[in-house]
Amino acid sequence: MTRTPERPRFREADLPPGASAVFEIDAAALRANYQALRARHPRGAVAAVVKANAYGSGIEVIAPVLHQAGCSRFFTAHLGEALTLRRLLPEAWIAVLNGLPPRAAEVFIEARLLPVLGSLAEIAAWQAAAARAGRRLPAILHLDTGMARLGLAASEVARLAEDPALLAGIEVVLVMSHLMAAERPDDPLNEAQRRRFVELAERLPPAPRSLANSSGVFLGPAYAFDLARAGAGLYGINPVPAHPNPLRFIGRLWARVLQVREIAAGQPVGYDASWRASRPSRIATLGLGYADGFPYRLANRGVLHFDERPVPLVGRVSMDLITCDVTDHPEVSPGAWLEAMGPALPPETLAALAGTSPYEILTSLGGRIVRCIRPEE
Ligand SMILES: *Cc1c(COP(=O)(O)O)cnc(C)c1O
Repeated sequence: MTRTPERPRFREADLPPGASAVFEIDAAALRANYQALRARHPRGAVAAVVKANAYGSGIEVIAPVLHQAGCSRFFTAHLGEALTLRRLLPEAWIAVLNGLPPRAAEVFIEARLLPVLGSLAEIAAWQAAAARAGRRLPAILHLDTGMARLGLAASEVARLAEDPALLAGIEVVLVMSHLMAAERPDDPLNEAQRRRFVELAERLPPAPRSLANSSGVFLGPAYAFDLARAGAGLYGINPVPAHPNPLRFIGRLWARVLQVREIAAGQPVGYDASWRASRPSRIATLGLGYADGFPYRLANRGVLHFDERPVPLVGRVSMDLITCDVTDHPEVSPGAWLEAMGPALPPETLAALAGTSPYEILTSLGGRIVRCIRPEE
């Protein structure tokens, strides 16, 4: 069997002139990840978390694919993200995790967005908005079960239980909480949070429940309530880091070779002359840098791929450029595309080299990168 070379599939003619970095999304892999998460969460539905520009992958590309695959519920972090999503998906159920900001209630109502209410003050503000609107308004209640980040404290849940009038005018469509250690299945914090979630939820009027994030889906049926909120796993970040990834990384980040030059042994490359050629070398300069989210920490230790073969990054990472030693890759010439991230070079690998988390690697991908669907062969 002949191997299919790992090459970009986008048509250069479809790119804006001057584009030098492209993130190609494998729509089939995205759909497969969504279905795999659903299969693992049989008692409930799976909502897509598309905050931070769909984890850097591009909400405009990601959201329609998920919607077509049957996903109808979405979470963003910010109101602005939710408004972008509303333009893309006029009929979807859209919730905003970071809560109800000041002066925003009418915007939520107008765009049919659900605030995730995490304090008595937010509940009161939404109730006041319902009174102004003259009708009940839907919302999600966020319970703090130990993470101490967002959500109603136990004392606030007690107040709501004592005084149901505090929720009058609000239709609670979901009660949720967030796990702090779901990537570590043996951590007792998971069970402690799960119990606390059930205890607190039982003090409130009955409503569907949501606890699991992507890793939570893999904690087993006890963590499967009515709705999972999956982000990382959809994009193919491994939800079970101690085990082989059951999901597929959906992206391929391509960087274009702008120039190739021959340098003599001993000649330095890049800022601070942090790398010197030990032999006569060919250096390729690519249009990708830390301003695009390529980690600065990968200076002299990053690796890109050409046709699945490693190409070492040499010298510093500049704002808009990186340099690679292509001495052993005579086929690499200006206009070639090297792979900076992909299924064989996933965010976990870059994160390990850069000393950060795969989430940060992915969500850092910047606004100059063109996002597109990878055409089927
Ligand atoms: C980001 C986020 C998620 C998604 O988590 P993943 O680990 O990316 O699946 C779910 N719920 C809340 C509250 C979040 O902030």
